[in-house]
Amino acid sequence: MPGWKPMTSPTSPALPRERTPNRGGPLLDRLVTVPGRHGRVTHVEHVPARQAGQAQWPSWVPPQVREGFEGLGIQGLWSHQSEAADLVHRGQNVIIATGTASGKSLAYLVPAVTEALSGGTVLYLTPTKALAADQLRSVSALGVQGLRAATFDGDTPHEERAWVRRNANYVLTNPDMLHRSILPRHSAWTSFWRRLRLVIVDECHGYRGVFGSHVAQILRRLRRVSAKYGASPVFFLASATASDPATTGMRLTGLQMAEVTRDASPRGTTTVALWEPPLTDLRGEGGAPIRRAATAEAADLLADLVVDGVRTLAFVRSRRSAETVALTARGHLEDAGVPLADKIAAYRAGYLAEDRRLLEKALRSGDLLGVATTNALELGVDVSGLDAVLIAGWPGTRASLWQQAGRAGRDGQDALAVLIARDDPLDTYVVHHPEALFGRPVEATVLDPDNPYVLAPHLCAAAAEVPLTEADLEIFGPSAAGVLDDLVADGLLRRRPTGWFWTSRDLAAGLADIRGSGGSPVQIVETDTGRLLGTCDEASSHTSVHTGAVHIHQGETFVVDELDLEMGVALVTPGTPDYSTFARDVTDIAVIESLRSHALGPGELHFGSVEVTRQVVSYMKRRTSTGEMLGDEPLDLPPRSLRTKAVWWTLPPESLPPGIGDLGGAAHAAEHASIGLLPLFATCDRWDIGGVSTELHPDTGRLTVFVYDGHAGGAGFAERGFGNAVAWLTATRDAIASCECGHGCPSCIQSPKCGNGNEPLSKRGALELLDVLLGGSVQRSASR
Ligand SMILES: [Zn+2]
Ligand SMILES: [Zn+2]
Repeated sequence: MPGWKPMTSPTSPALPRERTPNRGGPLLDRLVTVPGRHGRVTHVEHVPARQAGQAQWPSWVPPQVREGFEGLGIQGLWSHQSEAADLVHRGQNVIIATGTASGKSLAYLVPAVTEALSGGTVLYLTPTKALAADQLRSVSALGVQGLRAATFDGDTPHEERAWVRRNANYVLTNPDMLHRSILPRHSAWTSFWRRLRLVIVDECHGYRGVFGSHVAQILRRLRRVSAKYGASPVFFLASATASDPATTGMRLTGLQMAEVTRDASPRGTTTVALWEPPLTDLRGEGGAPIRRAATAEAADLLADLVVDGVRTLAFVRSRRSAETVALTARGHLEDAGVPLADKIAAYRAGYLAEDRRLLEKALRSGDLLGVATTNALELGVDVSGLDAVLIAGWPGTRASLWQQAGRAGRDGQDALAVLIARDDPLDTYVVHHPEALFGRPVEATVLDPDNPYVLAPHLCAAAAEVPLTEADLEIFGPSAAGVLDDLVADGLLRRRPTGWFWTSRDLAAGLADIRGSGGSPVQIVETDTGRLLGTCDEASSHTSVHTGAVHIHQGETFVVDELDLEMGVALVTPGTPDYSTFARDVTDIAVIESLRSHALGPGELHFGSVEVTRQVVSYMKRRTSTGEMLGDEPLDLPPRSLRTKAVWWTLPPESLPPGIGDLGGAAHAAEHASIGLLPLFATCDRWDIGGVSTELHPDTGRLTVFVYDGHAGGAGFAERGFGNAVAWLTATRDAIASCECGHGCPSCIQSPKCGNGNEPLSKRGALELLDVLLGGSVQRSASR
């Protein structure tokens, strides 16, 4: 028996602990018996195996389709697959929301191939090109005669495009391509539209926030264009496990959906461990203790697992971390004289297509044993047969956590998943509150199809595709009429008796930037060779490839010589600095309008519109090995302003605790921690939201803490915070109170993206403010 004891916690009824021997447990034992790792596991949960039911073919499946699948070793559909397939076959829109290894693709492939063979066409949508390529391989492997499947995306050579438009009956693409090419040039696809019977929207939980709102409008445009050609396709949506999938499906497509959520696929036992890296002797901002980085722990564990021949994926939050973890794990093996360093690689979106294909292939073939990846791989690229998954940092939602953990043990074998906490309030909270993870329903996907900032450009695009009529307003929702009036007033659309027209020569679809990034991509180019390394959008270029930034690509480290926003290029030179860089910004916020409010304790809680002005002003250097701060360098970048939605709370001066001291620091600390915890309630990423706090805000005349959506027009996150304010702010208070540090640290009140270098901050003051706010009984009085 290893010399450690997992702490146990109240066990969830839905996922009972399982005591039968399994493979994941021994893998974990090996990791924790390494000297010095005592006490890092805060909780272990064994998610039990599930037995297979009986697989069968629905009676309507044609023999040649059945034979195609049987040739690949598939003997029939599990009950949840055939339930969904039957619904689609009968013409009912359906959303299936089950776990990663549950075989959702079979549920749509069977009716889709059946439709294609009977003279129809099928449109398959996925968020990434990589997943479309993977799906094309699966479809082609069926070898069914008469099935003409093809991808149509940025990688499709121009000479092949005409063939796809005319001949393919199974077209795989992404929302970007639909938006920019297929819908605007719909007349080139006439025969495809006329026969369109089925639209598959795969990985649809990825369509959340502003991106989700864009995709919702693109799907409405798709419905209109189909109708022009007399088609009314059935929609099949496939999602990771999510709460209330029919509502998500309805918001995404505007159509009523049947939902299938019961998973009948077999799976092995998964051992899930929660892991907290130790505090180190190093000191960060304000003298705060620094916890060992989750990525450093992940690199250690990845190296250990690869040595044992365990096929492992390490999920990390950023592109940069994927590179760092792979590099560090390789270094460990080299130092130990183990000749397996070339079995470890990094994988992430943003690589050029050919690089990604090579990595996917190597992982499938087993040429790679350990891969550090961003969630580019989470999105369904088909990698099976993995034994372990390391998750460095809370992946944002319970749904993502199970999606990533579900990567291991896909073939029904036992597996290990380890969630490693980052030095961050949310991560610290979840590894100490396993009840927040296990046996709880996963989150609903949050998106707001009525965001007027998103709707406006799509109404222009829709009008350019087929002039808009009064009858179309219903498809685009309640805010469409008002937005159309604005577009006419701004001269973008022209109103005629027969409807609204786009009269410009420009491509209307160019108005909408659907990845919500703002601005055209910045190219990252090597100064000496002119080699294109990758791209990033303009908004994130200010923080990730500003002049002086350290940028990592495929394990190679570069320093940015210059970010030229006018040219849209970041010039980089290879280098080996011993520090990483973090951009700093200054943010102002103005209240435009409070839309909803109620009393909260002696204060008020509001939800409404705000204008945020943010400017990246400098960057910090932090020593890579220790996290130590090395100083601040100024930057000269333009401010970016953002009209968005926010949730804010205020406290009147007379309610403030006497002797609280540093009020600004108290509000600032409460702001940081509440930004850290909101993702637990609003299915967002800490980086999707921002905050501003002040002891006296000119627009409210009070101490005010704002948390805002980081995308124009809002994304629904702040609204969720408003709706769940008491639970959210209570968790915020608990996260601060339970942190073992003295005066605040990154696990509670410090923020990695603070514009003020985490000053001033008052841990005690933040607790006092939240106690005042939450102490009184919550009175609700809608004031709108
Ligand atoms: Zn702390
Ligand atoms: Zn701050």
